[in-house]
Amino acid sequence: MSGAIHNCHLHLFTIDNIPENFIPFGLQTIMRLDPLRTLVVSGLKVADPFGKRDLFERYGNLMRLTYGKSQEDLFAVVRSYYPAGTRFVILPMDMEFMKKGRVPKDIHHQHAELARLRDKFPDLIIPFAHVDPRRPNVEKMLRKLVEEDGFKGVKIYPPLGYSPSDSVLMEQIYPYMQEKGLPLMAHCSKGGVRMDGLSAKEAARFADPDGYVRVMEAFPDLRICLGHFGGQDDWKAYLDEPWDPTVTKASTNWLSKILDLIRSGKYPNLFADISYTVFSIGENLPLLKVLLADTQVQNQVLFGSDFYMAEQEKMTERRVSIALRSELSPTVFWKIAEENPKRYL
Ligand SMILES: [Zn+2]
Repeated sequence: MSGAIHNCHLHLFTIDNIPENFIPFGLQTIMRLDPLRTLVVSGLKVADPFGKRDLFERYGNLMRLTYGKSQEDLFAVVRSYYPAGTRFVILPMDMEFMKKGRVPKDIHHQHAELARLRDKFPDLIIPFAHVDPRRPNVEKMLRKLVEEDGFKGVKIYPPLGYSPSDSVLMEQIYPYMQEKGLPLMAHCSKGGVRMDGLSAKEAARFADPDGYVRVMEAFPDLRICLGHFGGQDDWKAYLDEPWDPTVTKASTNWLSKILDLIRSGKYPNLFADISYTVFSIGENLPLLKVLLADTQVQNQVLFGSDFYMAEQEKMTERRVSIALRSELSPTVFWKIAEENPKRYL
């Protein structure tokens, strides 16, 4: 059996779609100048004067991969890693409300560019709209994107400063999505970007899988994917720091929280994708293989890579995809790469 691979988690936004002060101390402007960029990025990686190595690496990577490029240029790269006919869910990012300054090309620009790209590759690109509940008239924006521009789902990123049960989402966005059958993609890991002023802990509270229980109870038909399956750190903790079930009843590990939700059988419309988490660290592949031996889990996992976020790591997109395909049985691979995505989408 073989069909079309569906990569359910992908980004094509560029350096112009992130806020001007994403990197502090005016370094962003300096880094835009080509010869200085490499110097600054590698210098900061070694010296790490601000204790923000992660941020600099992420930004340097973003800069390296997207500077002067369009969404179409980036799409050409990711498409080259996969067989012809592969379909890609593209997730825009609205970072205007993260309190890091003006965004040179705002979310409307980003959505419009994505719609044009989809018009060029209508069979390959599945565009999602980024919804930040703090954006004025966001419901109107979403309706237009869906009804006039053919967008197929919604992306949210709670660590940017809001809860998944924010009143705008609960009262305006989810009811509309449930009515139209639009799936939700939610960033669900303790890593990634966050709103300025939030501690890592506060940002994590917004992304916590527990926050979706209320949403799923209120909107049982809404299909939700928790992106990154709880995240790399929690996968590592799952392996290295097992908990004693006699001491703590409920684990705080996000991977196990999501597994519990899936295994409860109460949430058939809940999915988790393996993007970044499995793509950035090869050692997570054996764990994934073991988890997928459970048929219930197998039915609710989606293939996704998080291109180009995982590109900074040691393995390329194609290497991981092929490792994954060779490790999983063809039945399981096609289940997470085609059958489940079709149900989710
Ligand atoms: Zn992502």
